[in-house]
Amino acid sequence: MTMKSKNDIIEAIHRLDSFLIMGHVDPDGDSLGSSLALALYLLEQAGKRAYMPAPVNWPGRYGFLEKHRDGTGEMPKEKVDAVIILDCSSADRVDWGQLDPRDYEESLFIVIDHHEEGKAFGDINWIDPESAAVGEMVFDILDALDAEITTPIAESLYMAIVTDTGRFTHSNTTARSMQICAELIERGNICPSKLTGEVYYSFSEEYLRNIGIALYNSRIYMDARIVFLTLDRASVRSFSTTFDETEGIVDLAMSVKGVELASLFKEIGQNMIRVSLRSRGKIDVGALAKELGGGGHRNAAGCTLKMPLSLAREVILDKFEDLLGMNLTRSACKVADERHIVP
Ligand code: 5GP
Ligand code: MN
Repeated sequence: MTMKSKNDIIEAIHRLDSFLIMGHVDPDGDSLGSSLALALYLLEQAGKRAYMPAPVNWPGRYGFLEKHRDGTGEMPKEKVDAVIILDCSSADRVDWGQLDPRDYEESLFIVIDHHEEGKAFGDINWIDPESAAVGEMVFDILDALDAEITTPIAESLYMAIVTDTGRFTHSNTTARSMQICAELIERGNICPSKLTGEVYYSFSEEYLRNIGIALYNSRIYMDARIVFLTLDRASVRSFSTTFDETEGIVDLAMSVKGVELASLFKEIGQNMIRVSLRSRGKIDVGALAKELGGGGHRNAAGCTLKMPLSLAREVILDKFEDLLGMNLTRSACKVADERHIVP
């Protein structure tokens, strides 16, 4: 099944001429990197027309990849043969940028994804949860097509894999992830330290402040088996930051010794809470996120809760208690009251 889908995609690339390439809303390194690499190959090596619309929001930490979009940004004036959607588990999370999806209803839809709960919403669907990143899947396609691994392609795929594996620390990391990265370094002549420096050691002032707010607002339960971080609106406003740069902050909570479940709450509106969920091992926050109207992977998922911040934290704490199979008393919480930072 899997091989057939992959072969169907390769066949479609041979057969068709024009492609629209897109990832998911709030793109991460995998979404951007895998989209860029595929678009660059189609445009520069396969002689196709390929377009990658600018995501609604290009996160600052991936700004250095934006230059690779040159030449893929020109918008199609007519219909395209195929729309290829990467790293996106459902139709409602596709980042169409400024485009209108209704203009592309006649195109062939190809979905390349690795989410466990990924929906096969395309005409051709290659969904492989064994892949740590869609970047690995795109590498497989390019390899099968005898593509030259140019420096821009290598940089894009390397960042896709490095970020989705948490720098090779998450449970999804495999020998294959590392083998592909080794090949990308060699064949694309890229510099790993320069690339990771761009993403991990290039904090903006805003990001640094958001980390501060989130950590100050930490709540630790059950001897730190559960850790909550919060970016509340009052603190965000008083520190003149925004919710734009928060990727990876929840992982700080997962760095606490003994932690099994962590969550970052972002109060993006009065009754609008973006929740990032993380778990260790077999504990499945993907299913929990789905139950709450979101989605994601077993160990990394998210959802949006339309309720006040305090209630959102209660809801998640209840669910986390269930996941750990025990009933916490509220006194187990070390921080009893809501608090805001006043600078
Ligand atoms: P994050 O917490 O970093 O925003 O998201 C973690 C993972 O969960 C990502 O792989 C992302 O695709 C998925 N995810 C986050 N929020 C949502 C959501 O609202 N809906 C769905 N379907 N997936 C989500
Ligand atoms: Mn991904």
